[in-house]
Amino acid sequence: MEQEKLQQELEQWKRKYLDYLEESERREKQWKDNDELLRKTISRLTLAADGLDDTLDRQLRDLRDAIRDHSSTAQLRTRIDEMSKTLVRLDSAAPAERNAGESQEAAPDTEEKAPGGFFKRLFRSPEKASGPAGATVADPASNETVRDILVRLLERLTLPDEFLPRVDRIRAHILDMDEDSEWDSVIGEIADLVQAIRAQSMKEKQGIEDFLKQLGERLREVDRQLSSSESYYDDTREAGEQFDSRVKQELDGIGHSVRDATDLGQLKDVVRTRLDTILDQLSQHRESEQQRYEQAKQEIAAMGRRMKELEFETEALRSRIDDERAQAKTDALTGIPNRLAWEERLAQEVARWKRFGTPLVLVVWDVDHFKDINDRFGHKAGDKVLRTIAHVLADNVRETDFVARYGGEEFAQLMTGSTLQECLQVVEKLRAAIEATGFHFREQRVTITASCGLTEYRDGDTPDRCFERADKALYRAKDAGRNRCVSD
Ligand code: GH3
Ligand code: MG
Ligand code: MG
Repeated sequence: MEQEKLQQELEQWKRKYLDYLEESERREKQWKDNDELLRKTISRLTLAADGLDDTLDRQLRDLRDAIRDHSSTAQLRTRIDEMSKTLVRLDSAAPAERNAGESQEAAPDTEEKAPGGFFKRLFRSPEKASGPAGATVADPASNETVRDILVRLLERLTLPDEFLPRVDRIRAHILDMDEDSEWDSVIGEIADLVQAIRAQSMKEKQGIEDFLKQLGERLREVDRQLSSSESYYDDTREAGEQFDSRVKQELDGIGHSVRDATDLGQLKDVVRTRLDTILDQLSQHRESEQQRYEQAKQEIAAMGRRMKELEFETEALRSRIDDERAQAKTDALTGIPNRLAWEERLAQEVARWKRFGTPLVLVVWDVDHFKDINDRFGHKAGDKVLRTIAHVLADNVRETDFVARYGGEEFAQLMTGSTLQECLQVVEKLRAAIEATGFHFREQRVTITASCGLTEYRDGDTPDRCFERADKALYRAKDAGRNRCVSD
């Protein structure tokens, strides 16, 4: 009975142990994702500096190749060190000293006029010569600025709570920068952040590994206890058998004595002695039985205490992991689900669509002229707009629908069980609700609008293809004058 219970508990602990191993593997993947994101970001950023200098171009190409080939950190560092030397040279050199006519691609008309060093030119806006514009175009094809890439990197890193204030500070710093600011200090802050994340990741990994080791040791201990309590039962049985055989021996002895006795006095003596021996044996047996029983009781109690401790530690770890899991899927600025949560939910809904064929509609929202809000009222006002719009969307969708911040001033929405036509009516209402939300900045009433594109999931679609269709519809909404919803 006791044995069976122990066996069951042991099985339970073994399952827990396996759960944690799985958790540890999930963490490992999260760290790898962050690493991959950093590599991609660096790769994109290197495009910003292309075409400024021949040596630098070659070094940037080498760096991109090294990132693509997943070279080791040591190899990457050598390349970055080489590149830093070139950058320092470029930053201090006068514009005229560099190869002429090679800057068209990255910074069209700022080269000759540009005062100051290389970094200033690198982060200069391509369209505007002054004002708090974005940084230079990093990837001409997608029209993405260095500023966008850095802000997006900060948003997409999966980070524990304690890093959020620091990320917020860096983000605010980036959004407040203008072309005369010291960009190298922001890059330094990001590098420090990355280093700190790495250190934290290693610490967490070590923590989970230590815990797993402890758990493994405890399991082995329980196993040992279990086998020692098995030997307790064996001992008891053996002792019982020995006792029986001794009593039998004595009784046989009495039988012989009775048969062989020649007078009554001798018989009495023999029987008494034999009975005394039996009584002695009996009390010895009882005593050792009692001792064994006490010892087993203590061992079982100790094991129970250890199990409780373990249960407590496991619960604490589990709730910490649950918190972190929830936090990893929440956008820090708006409090609604983030891109990671979006990807997960989208995969689930697509699987459901494939199985049951209930309509699935995907909506992409983008705030209209949002850059103007930042430029006119500052990025804090911009942040407030994003929080408000996120809640207008999230609070007004059906329970079964889903809204996430996709990135920057873009939101993505999933609607299930309604036709595209019905969904168009729903998003029209959301659009009107955003337009009707009053914003007041510097005692001025400002109307903010958003546009969206929507499409339903179709046979042969992949999530990416479906998203692209919604995104194209969004662009048609923008082209047609904004503040509207267009379906495809
Ligand atoms: P359009 O109507 O065509 O969408 O114009 P837009 O100005 O909204 O679009 P654009 O993509 O040019 O600008 C988006 C701006 O959003 C640029 C970027 O600095 C800003 N931004 C991105 N993320 C954040 C954020 O988290 N907070 C704030 N305040 N601004 C952000
Ligand atoms: Mg946008
Ligand atoms: Mg916009």
